[in-house]
Amino acid sequence: MSNNMDQILRQTSFSKEDIVTLLQTNKEDRNKLFTHAAAIKEEFAGKKVYYRGLIEMSNICSKNCYYCGIRMDNKNVDRYDISDKDILDAVRFAYQSNYGSVVLQAGELSSPKFTKRISNLLKKIKEISNNELGITISLGEQPDEVYKEWFESGAHRYLLRIESSNPDLYYKIHPRDEKHDFDTRLACLKSLQKVGYQTGTGVMIGLPFQTYEDLANDLLFMKNFDIDMCGMGPYIEHVDTPLYQYKDLLMPLEDRFILTLKMISLLRIIMKDINIAAATALQAIDPIGREKAIKVGANIIMPNVTPGMYRDSYKLYENKPCTDEEAADCTNCMEMRIGITGDEIGYGEWGDSKHYYKRRKQISR
Ligand code: SAH
Ligand code: SF4
Repeated sequence: MSNNMDQILRQTSFSKEDIVTLLQTNKEDRNKLFTHAAAIKEEFAGKKVYYRGLIEMSNICSKNCYYCGIRMDNKNVDRYDISDKDILDAVRFAYQSNYGSVVLQAGELSSPKFTKRISNLLKKIKEISNNELGITISLGEQPDEVYKEWFESGAHRYLLRIESSNPDLYYKIHPRDEKHDFDTRLACLKSLQKVGYQTGTGVMIGLPFQTYEDLANDLLFMKNFDIDMCGMGPYIEHVDTPLYQYKDLLMPLEDRFILTLKMISLLRIIMKDINIAAATALQAIDPIGREKAIKVGANIIMPNVTPGMYRDSYKLYENKPCTDEEAADCTNCMEMRIGITGDEIGYGEWGDSKHYYKRRKQISR
């Protein structure tokens, strides 16, 4: 096995079978995988970790994804929608703390009023930060014109996870209807890329019915799609969701955690210069989960700057960390945490995806 592993790691491209083998490695081999990924990260992405201050604007959602705690039909959620003033206060906090960027994330809403509100917020964020803060948004599926309007208003990165690149699995974790259409999700990702965003996607790892082949195909999907950024994390069951009924099919949380680290390492090896986030869901399993992800290939962390009073209500999954904290508590805690990984924090820098600029250069040639 070990020889096989060394041999595969020396290759410059990987087949689905190679990836499946690497995903199933035992402890000794997986440390080789992690070390290899760490070296590639240092060479191609650098030794800096970039911050994106995460603002969970609202947990109101019009969709019903089977895995998600804030799905529309879950009645056990106190719904909130943070005022523009409070959002901008959180932005100011991120700016003053010298985070290079902010992320606006929310449940999925689509209306002309919502579109305008976001556009205004984006412009205000640029204004109050002297054009210095980078802005990522993660606001779900929207018409092309909306993606364009938000891009022109100042957002330059967009996160839209494909969740699973296998349509069959996609429809096991989403209702099969117009609002949850795999082809629409894919078309949205393409549209984001076309509009000019640094385009990020990702999947959940350890879903019921998911196979190692599915995960290998997810990585190949990201490579073929030529994504610039990735956020992928372990699936964590939530009691108030339809998918909870399959909890007995799941692998133990610790295994989902390790599998996520392997996915991050492999993606780093396969797509050397992209940005990879250390998902918050990792920390719901292991208190230093995100730091472990940084060590094996991730280079982005999204400290939560959502005002403390709302945090408890943005529960996509159980055991969400730090819901009883305020943003200021996070800053010191995070700095110490990154220190442990041996990386530095890219304070005040956007830390854009290097891959994006390479891709754009190739297009304009
Ligand atoms: N509504 C937007 C953004 C918020 S949800 C959207 O869906 O794109 C952000 C991500 O949270 C989703 O993409 C999903 O991958 C993740 N998520 C939701 N429920 C989860 C769960 N139970 N475990 C792990 N991740 C989950
Ligand atoms: Fe809504 Fe996103 Fe949760 Fe789906 S994953 S229910 S779109 S918040």
